[in-house]
Amino acid sequence: MVGLERVFDVIRERGARAVGLQFPEGLMRYAIDISRLVGDLSGAEVFISGDSCFGACDMDLRLLEFVDVLFHFAHTPMGSVDPKVVFVEVSSKLSVVPVVKSAVSLFSGSVSRVGVVTTVQHLHTLGEVCWVLESSGLDPVVGVGDGCIAHPGQVLGCNFSTAAAECDEYLFVGSGRFHPIGVAIARRRRVVAADPYTGRAFVVDPEPIIRKRCGVVARALDTESFGIIVSSKPGQERLGLARELLGLVEEHGKRGVIMVMDVVKPDQFLGLGLDALVSTACPRIAVDDGESFGVPILTPVELEIVLGLREWEDFRLDEITCGR
Ligand code: SF4
Repeated sequence: MVGLERVFDVIRERGARAVGLQFPEGLMRYAIDISRLVGDLSGAEVFISGDSCFGACDMDLRLLEFVDVLFHFAHTPMGSVDPKVVFVEVSSKLSVVPVVKSAVSLFSGSVSRVGVVTTVQHLHTLGEVCWVLESSGLDPVVGVGDGCIAHPGQVLGCNFSTAAAECDEYLFVGSGRFHPIGVAIARRRRVVAADPYTGRAFVVDPEPIIRKRCGVVARALDTESFGIIVSSKPGQERLGLARELLGLVEEHGKRGVIMVMDVVKPDQFLGLGLDALVSTACPRIAVDDGESFGVPILTPVELEIVLGLREWEDFRLDEITCGR
């Protein structure tokens, strides 16, 4: 699953003596074996990052300071990154063809153009996915995203920009519901999900998340004080947006404070007396973990609704975007 040729090539080409390895949680079980292999075969001193690694947004900047190269596994660059960071993509070996064939019958009868999106580990299957759709008389469209997205058709939990506009419906290939629900809300279209791990294809239902977020917004309507969260993780840091939100809060006669942190955890807010939080960090914190914070935790979009600056009809999930 993990192709290490690139790691050895880069160490050799750069003459690296100190090497950092950063893995997402799902690959940590390979970390020790990979570090031994890299150290033994290259002769470099190898360090494994023990910090969180939630996505490409989450670079171990401390480790980066004392290594010649930092290999960041299983993600792709998100915007511009330090040249000492090398991304090592990891591809799934699972065939997606059977589940995509099952997905075809779930599109509406009138559908022609189908936008296709997937996560990084299945990107190499996009040709096969399009072939299955074309063989079924559909017109697949693989969109190019903004500067946060490295490859056409790739989707992140915080960026749906490759879901090409003007498609009738969308196909998401991958696991989990967050990405396809994000596309469904962003494009206001039906999304069929094809999960190669379970072999299940299904139409995603964004309504439960929309209802839940509506409840959070309703609870925050009478709020007087807001803690505006900024993550210092390189791909999540949106201090400029936080300052704008603070300005909006104060213009509306409410109080706000900006809080900067690396990992955002509920216990960091205990005892502060804030009525609500607004997260400019990873959009999934509010949506996936919001209930554990004890007070409503809004996205920037939702704060605009609370302040009366946006209609509920314009609700969408928060996205982290980058210019191209
Ligand atoms: S900000 Fe969140 S959704 Fe976006 S890449 Fe990072 S962990 Fe994933």
